Amino acid sequence: MLKEFISYYKPHKKLFFIDMFFAFLISIFDLIFPMFSRNIVNEIIPQGRIDLLIKWTIIMMFLFILRYISEYIVSYWGHVLGVYIEHDMRKDLFSHLQTLPFSYYDNTQTGHIMSRLVNDLRDITELAHHGPEDLFISLVMFVGSFILLIRIEWKLTLIIFSFVPIMIWFAITKRKKMEESFREVRRKIADVNAQLENSISGIRVAKSFTNEDYEIEKFNKGNELFRDARKQSYKAMAEFSAGIGIMTNILNLIVISLGGYFVYRNFINLGDLIAYTLYVNLFMQPIRRLAAFMQQYQDGMTGFERFMEIMNIKSDIVDKEDAIELEDVEGHIQFKNVSFSYNDGEDKVLSNINLDIEAGKTVAIVGPSGSGKTTLCHLIPRFYDTNEGDIFIDGYNIKDIKLKSLRQNIGIVQQDVFLFTGTIRDNISYGDPTKSEEDIIEAAKKARIHDFIMSLPDGYDTYIGEKGVKLSGGQKQRISIARLFLKDPPILILDEATSALDTATEVLIQQSLEELAKGRTTLIIAHRLSTIKNADEILVLTNEGIEERGSHEELLKQNYIYAKLYRSQFKELAS
Ligand code: ADP
Ligand code: MG
Repeated sequence: MLKEFISYYKPHKKLFFIDMFFAFLISIFDLIFPMFSRNIVNEIIPQGRIDLLIKWTIIMMFLFILRYISEYIVSYWGHVLGVYIEHDMRKDLFSHLQTLPFSYYDNTQTGHIMSRLVNDLRDITELAHHGPEDLFISLVMFVGSFILLIRIEWKLTLIIFSFVPIMIWFAITKRKKMEESFREVRRKIADVNAQLENSISGIRVAKSFTNEDYEIEKFNKGNELFRDARKQSYKAMAEFSAGIGIMTNILNLIVISLGGYFVYRNFINLGDLIAYTLYVNLFMQPIRRLAAFMQQYQDGMTGFERFMEIMNIKSDIVDKEDAIELEDVEGHIQFKNVSFSYNDGEDKVLSNINLDIEAGKTVAIVGPSGSGKTTLCHLIPRFYDTNEGDIFIDGYNIKDIKLKSLRQNIGIVQQDVFLFTGTIRDNISYGDPTKSEEDIIEAAKKARIHDFIMSLPDGYDTYIGEKGVKLSGGQKQRISIARLFLKDPPILILDEATSALDTATEVLIQQSLEELAKGRTTLIIAHRLSTIKNADEILVLTNEGIEERGSHEELLKQNYIYAKLYRSQFKELAS
């Protein structure tokens, strides 16, 4: 895990070494200043060398300036290093998410992915940036000051350092408590956000049930928990800083009184005592840093593990090495003994399906809800792979075709249209971003939505709201059809494309769909059988498999499932 983590530093090696070098300089400067003070008190003043005093003051001023330049570099470029690494990880994670198959998203909540992209990555950056720096500075300051102090007076040094483990323990435990309370705050704000997101996107339902008060109450509960968590976190923060303050003071007191005694007994000079006092305050820095590092390491590594957990999921639906590109697709589709289940062989949704759809023909599938019609459609563009049997397009096994090429040749219209937040033009051109404005208008005309679009004040630039809320169901469906006209795929799948619409709109959309289906191999799934009467072949899919197949007339003659279904719908319409 650490190896993968470190690999993210590789592209930014230069920055990393610059950061570490200047961090090292800062520690060295901090270590030598007390020695200067000691020198002034012990040597220069007793000797009355004012010239030396002036000289050293100037040198120290110069070093001070250098120290703060280093501080600037570390603070600026160190953080930038963290930002770069976070950027790279977020980029990798998002690109990787794009490769994951439907099955991954079936079992994942969007909110969790979001929290990984935001919270986990923030923890990782903290570690990526401060981790090496903190560890390094602490180490240099610790070892450096220990050596310098031992050289001045080893007994006093050992006494002072014997307190260090207690302080480290204190700092780490208090820090842990503080971080734990911050984490609780983060969890609570995540809940508040999730609650907010859910309530606001469901606001129309809430209002229609007049459940505003219920929503407010639910929200307030989360809001109060968030408030209390923050209260708690400030308590922990206060404990931590007050605790560290007390420790520093106690140590100062020990140094002053014990050091004073050492001066009185002439074991050390006044300058040594001053150096000791200054060093004591310096120790507190690495101790704080070390405590911070321990916590950052824990959080960052937990975040990184979760990050790698997603990165390590490999899609099993990928291109073969010698995958081919489809050219001039005619659209002959075959299913040979296809079986499929969502959970590896158990609970088969489809078993032993055989199908042969000649190029340019229209085949309809009807059957009860849950019989696997949508599933069957999803196997063609390889949203899922078959468990057994194979599917062929123009004689090529779809597993031998490049995924991109396969999917570019298939268009799907679904019942619940998904439109992206943006303008009408954005959504139509999504079908093929390389096409021109004229092509977009042409597609809209074919989908019979152009006149409507032109009647809007902003025309094609009309903003359709989140997921297209500003449009009616029929309008949304037309835009999705225009999107497909633009894509112009030789194979078309219509999965209950009009089921959500009222009868009048359905008839109109039906005309557009027929237009779209012209010259393409089309697989239609329909609820209302009137819409598929003209199909070249109709299949009846039930939980038992394909039970019947034939043209509308043939199936009526057979007088079995289809005929019964048809008559019942006919009666419904007549009544
Ligand atoms: P239809 O389109 O004919 O109504 P589906 O193909 O949507 O039927 O569903 C067939 C069966 O597969 C149903 O029992 C459904 O519960 C199950 N199913 C559908 N999608 C998934 C999925 N993503 N994960 C697991 N099971 C699913
Ligand atoms: Mg379905």
